[in-house]
Formats: sequence, structure tokens, C-alpha cells
Amino acid sequence: MRIETADILIIGAGPAGSVAAGLLRQQGREVLILEREQFPRFSIGESLLPQSMQFIEGAGMLQDVVEAGFQYKNGAAFSRAGQRTHFDFREKFSEGWGTTYQVQRADFDKVLADAAARAGATVRYRHEVTAIDLNDGAPIVTVRDASESGGGEVYQVQAKFLLDASGFGRILPRLLQLETPSRFPSRGAIFTHVADGTAPGSWDRNKILVSVHPEQCDVWYWTIPFSNGRCSLGVVAETHVLDRYTGTETERLQAIVNEEPGLKALLANATWDTPARSIIGYSANVKSLWGPGFALLGNAGEFLDPVFSSGVTIAFKSAHLAAACLQRQANGETVDWQADYADPLRKGVDTFRTFVESWYAGGFQKIIFQPKPTPDIRRMISSILAGYAWDTSNPYVADSKRRLGVLEELCSA
Ligand code: FAD
Repeated sequence: MRIETADILIIGAGPAGSVAAGLLRQQGREVLILEREQFPRFSIGESLLPQSMQFIEGAGMLQDVVEAGFQYKNGAAFSRAGQRTHFDFREKFSEGWGTTYQVQRADFDKVLADAAARAGATVRYRHEVTAIDLNDGAPIVTVRDASESGGGEVYQVQAKFLLDASGFGRILPRLLQLETPSRFPSRGAIFTHVADGTAPGSWDRNKILVSVHPEQCDVWYWTIPFSNGRCSLGVVAETHVLDRYTGTETERLQAIVNEEPGLKALLANATWDTPARSIIGYSANVKSLWGPGFALLGNAGEFLDPVFSSGVTIAFKSAHLAAACLQRQANGETVDWQADYADPLRKGVDTFRTFVESWYAGGFQKIIFQPKPTPDIRRMISSILAGYAWDTSNPYVADSKRRLGVLEELCSA
């Protein structure tokens, strides 16, 4: 079998893989990305957080994203049983970007991958990684070239370092038995894109709308407006709840949407022109985010939950941390991947986890729908919702569990 060599090999050209490639090209590293699909391709995960803009900028891809014409986003709106509240991300505790975009991921991921290629990374589409041999820290992967010219050829690549950015493919966790179950119950989502048919000014297109089911606080909907009069619409619930709805995925989604009067009214004139899809049991974890000659980025490592739109931001953060470690390693420094990569990444992930747990238990909903919020605390929470989950000067990051617990109690009193 043919064997190639590579400096840095990245599996997957999603947000984590492309941003890592951009950063590594800035260091002058040779980068090969192997991507299973042909781009553009659909992906879920369309509402970005402002913190992600810093990471896009750092990878030299800001102009590409700005020029792509995505929907501007400045916050998140929440609705529950007729109550409404919103967070404007420009009013936040942490320094940094207060606005971002809501993106069709087919286009967004292609913009980033094209930017990585322009920066000098080699991107091979329809090349699927199927096996790995860790080979004492000089990993060898087996690849199937399903592109038209490849005709299914199987070949191998030996890399100096391997970044697994295969997202929900979770190729290394699966092949190396690194997977561990998530602590969250099994949830699923049913989603589609619709022409929303809403009148101009009837709702704030600059914000994601998160609506809570009128009877079940752990069932929620997202409505993510795009810049072309369409929006992404989805519902999240525990798998056994979704199982109660029958018919096609579109019929199931329509039935659940119709149970939330606010959403039903908002989308009364929507055109459901795209068959809905579903995904279940997406929350996942791993024993370790790194090993000899490799690190796991983005969703290939851990995926928490969609409720605070943190996935792409975490994917970008992992790419930045890994690229910094690789730079130090190239400079001859000793890198402790646990202390320098996994632990700092987990700090922000754990902040989001605390908020996600509180959301599903209902406590966070009490906090945000509280009629008389304290402005300073609201700015700290706005920061986390804007993605600044690694800013330990924010007390709700530094001590998130205790702080949020106290606040929940105050709001319940
Ligand atoms: P991905 O985006 O999954 O990219 C991985 C790439 O690797 C893919 O292109 C895939 O084709 C490729 N690949 C896989 N296997 C192989 C292989 N064997 N060989 C080669 N290539 C391979 N996040 C947000 O930020 N905002 C949101 O609003 C949001 N909403 C979500 C809603 C739901 C219901 C779910 C489940 C998730 C949501 N997310 C959201 C999370 C978001 O989808 C992910 O966190 C994000 O896409 C992770 O990026 P990534 O680069 O790690 O992986």
C-alpha cells in the first residue's frame, strides 16, 4: 500500500479542523486535511457566539467570514409561557467581541476550509480515514479516497502529529476505544430550514430565539434567523419524549412546534419546503483528549448540548489551544498536553456544563425570567452566553457551580 508522510495531519474540515489548519499555517507548518465529505455539505450548529470571532480573527479568516454575508447576531432571546427576556451580548462583563453571525453551516464551513486552503493547507475532499495505528507517537492512518479521480484507492499517511477534528464522526475515540458515556440523559433534536414568512420587524432577527415548551421545561426550541428570509428551526427533548410523536420527521416537528403557541403564531406563514431531519444521543465524552502523537479537537473530544450554542466556540478554542501546544513543541519546549491543552479546554467546557445542567433542571430559566434582575449579574451571565466561558475574572466562570446555585436559590425565594 502507498504510504505518504505529513507534518500535521488533520481529520475533518469542520470548524475545528479548518481553524487549526489556519493557525498552523501561520507557524509555517505543513498541513494536510482529510475530509470525508464533498463541501459544501449540510451541518447542524448554526448560531455562533461572539467569543468565536476572536478565534476566527486569530486564524486569519475574519475577512472571509465578514464578506460571506451571514446574518448579524447580537444576542439571545428567550420565551416561556408568554414571558420574554433577552440578552444583548454587547452588554457583557468580559472584554471582546459582542456580536457575531448566524450561519448556514454548508456555506460557513466551506468559507473556513477555503481560507485554510488559501493559507496553504492541502484539503482533500472525499478522503475518509478508516483506521489508525498510533505507532509509538508517529501515527499512521489508513485512508479511502472516494473522490471521482481516486476510485476508492486505499492508502496510508504517516504524520508527525495528528489532530482528530472529525466531529460527530469521532473517529479516534471510536477506533482507540476512548469513548465514555456523557452524564446527560439521551436527548435528540428534530430540525429543518423553513422560509419563515414573518413580517419585517415582527421579531428580532439579530438574535437566536430559544422557546421553552409550555408544559415541559426541559423541552425547548431554537429559531435561528438567516440573512435570506429563512431560518433554522429545531426542537430538543429527551429521546423518549420525541418517540411519542409519529409520522415523518417534518410531521413530528410540526406537531411539537404547534404545542408552543408563541412559535406557532410566529411561524403561521412559514413554508416548510425542506424535509426535517433528526439526530439523537449526540452528547458524548472521552477518557482523554490527547495521547501519544495526537489530540482530539472540537466534537471529536466532548460534545455537551446545543442549548447555549457553544459547540463551534469550543471547537475553535480547542484548535487554538492545540496549535499553541504544537508551536511550543516545535520550538523544542516540553509540552504537557494534559496541563497545557486538556485542562484549560475543560475549564470553559465545565462552565458551559454547569449552565446546561441548570437549564434542564429549570433553575437557569428562573434566573433569566426573573422580573427584577441585577444588572451586574446579568452582564456576567451575558458574557457566558456570549461564549466567554474561559474568562476566569468572571465570578460565574471562576466559581460557576456555587455562584449559579446561590443565584438559583435567590430567584426561587
Ligand atoms: P464537525 O463540524 O462535525 O466537522 C467534522 C468534519 O469531519 C465533518 O466535515 C465530517 O465530514 C468530517 N469527518 C468525520 N469523520 C471523518 C473521517 N472518518 N474521515 C475524514 N473526515 C471525517 N454549535 C454551535 O456553535 N451553535 C449552534 O447553534 C449549535 N446547534 C447545535 C444543534 C444540535 C442539535 C447539535 C447536535 C449540535 C449543535 N451545535 C451547535 C454543535 C455543533 O454542531 C458542533 O459543536 C460543531 O459542528 C463541531 O465542530 P467540529 O469541527 O468539531 O466538527
